[in-house]
Amino acid sequence: MSDFRSDHKDVRPDAPNVPAHFIEQIIQEDLASGKHKRIHTRFPPEPNGYLHIGHAKAICLSFGLAEKYNGSVNLRFDDTNPEKENQEYVDAIRRDVQWLGYHWNGGEFYTSDYFETLFQYASILIKKGKAYVDHQNPETIAEQKGTPTAPGTNSPHRERSPEENLQLFEEMRAGVHPDGHCVLRAKIDMTHPNMHMRDPVIYRIKRAHHHRTGNDWCIYPMYDFAHGQSDSIEGITHSLCTLEFEVHRPLYDWFIQELEIFPSRQIEFARLNLDHTVMSKRKLLRLVEDGVVDGWDDPRMPTISGLRRRGFTPESIRTFCDRVGIAKRENVIDFSLLEWALRDHLNRVALRAMAVLDPIKLVVVNYPEGQTEMLPSENNPEDPEAGVRMMPFSRELWMERGDFREEANKKWFRLAPGKTVRLKSAFIVRYVNHTVDAQGNVNEVHVEYFPDSRSGSDTSGIKAKGTLHWVNAATALDAEVRLYDRLFADPTPDGHADREFTEFLNPDSLEVRTHCKLEPSLGEAPGETPYQFTRLGYFSLDSEKSKAAGHPVWNRSVTLKDGWKG
Ligand code: ATP
Ligand code: MG
Repeated sequence: MSDFRSDHKDVRPDAPNVPAHFIEQIIQEDLASGKHKRIHTRFPPEPNGYLHIGHAKAICLSFGLAEKYNGSVNLRFDDTNPEKENQEYVDAIRRDVQWLGYHWNGGEFYTSDYFETLFQYASILIKKGKAYVDHQNPETIAEQKGTPTAPGTNSPHRERSPEENLQLFEEMRAGVHPDGHCVLRAKIDMTHPNMHMRDPVIYRIKRAHHHRTGNDWCIYPMYDFAHGQSDSIEGITHSLCTLEFEVHRPLYDWFIQELEIFPSRQIEFARLNLDHTVMSKRKLLRLVEDGVVDGWDDPRMPTISGLRRRGFTPESIRTFCDRVGIAKRENVIDFSLLEWALRDHLNRVALRAMAVLDPIKLVVVNYPEGQTEMLPSENNPEDPEAGVRMMPFSRELWMERGDFREEANKKWFRLAPGKTVRLKSAFIVRYVNHTVDAQGNVNEVHVEYFPDSRSGSDTSGIKAKGTLHWVNAATALDAEVRLYDRLFADPTPDGHADREFTEFLNPDSLEVRTHCKLEPSLGEAPGETPYQFTRLGYFSLDSEKSKAAGHPVWNRSVTLKDGWKG
């Protein structure tokens, strides 16, 4: 098993007493000092796409801390952008958070529930002379912003009276003005070194149908005017978000101060980046819309639903997030760390089974024709309570094409002329001969078996170095098996200045194998339940795909070892 600690410096050690990360330390101090009796966090997705593994990190953090410190956590849909949001995404997000094993004990909220309150907040700012309606077009407003090194210029509408502003703002709400005709801006400081403080736009006119409020509103608050205030309205004590919001914090604090509302404290942490994939919802949506993948839950997608369909378990994703740790520094995590976390979990819990993905016939020439015996095989050597299952064994079996060579040297421990191997949970067999088809491909390997070499009661005294998996031919199930590789061939597909990330797709990210042979017990396998196929990796039945295809479709979740050469 690989150990990632050496090459992932941000990875937290395995020890039960892991040192508290910087956010935990802040929480501990706030509880110890009595600043807060109980912490309250939230996870605030925008329902404009499916959640990805980066969101999982944010979820594990905010839900995990609330759990650990006996606090509350809210699920809040940050739905201020009606054109891109919809109910499908809301449902998918709820499902994914629940599947990860979390429960929003503080409640489920929507920023759109606060539209009226936010409107009132904006009116308060106007009355205080801290906001004004600007009639300039977006280009002029952008030009007047200045640059980080050059101060901005005041709008000619900046000195409008509160009365005039209030009337105009109410007209905006009432639909008097066309879309884009004017905006409401906070009146802060056009020379502020932080560009976000240069009179940011806080309301715009947009006649768009909202997935919850319908056509009630034709003005919508900007994200920056909604996000921080929503935290305050909900009494969030620790508002955890990714580093890109650090520069927005002074603005959120300014609103809190001017509006005299609950002072939620925002703390930023580094976002999770994974190699060989893209993580922004906009880019993932593009892959879905372009048909590059089979939907948001394609098993190659870094989405939670994709990982679930691929066969990831909630435990493995939580372990991964824990290992990645919480830091202030951005870095890129190896996809193989995610795979390691899955292997680590599945090795403990997955039931074992046998399947042959590239079958050729294996004929046991000295086994009586028409006879079948049932041989016990352990369901999980890591878990004695998992018991055994009975595997049929007879004269004709399937074996893996790659397990036979017509010529082989001493280091080859599988089948070849002159070689002896053990068939797992069955007998030792010795090569007799083989046949080839018209194209020269091997199609049958003939062996003889040693009746006294039966696993568990072997008295043959024969040594066999290799052990092969096999499936009884007469009772084998036919299945399609899908093998996955990295979705992108390049480690940072969106890190190339002049090239589109879609240029770096891995053409071999999906390999479909048909007519694979599965042991009969897998006919009863429930969907999305992990199995280890002996020597091949971890697999799970894709129930939806199977239904659509009319035959069983299995996904390989991960190989047994990290064999990926990046
Ligand atoms: P994307 O850029 O992928 O669309 P986003 O930040 O716009 O992501 P939101 O729905 O606004 O998506 O995110 C909800 C929460 O998840 C935010 O608090 C955000 O900081 C956090 N989050 C998003 N991406 C990551 C990531 N890669 N790593 C950690 N947290 C993330
Ligand atoms: Mg966002």
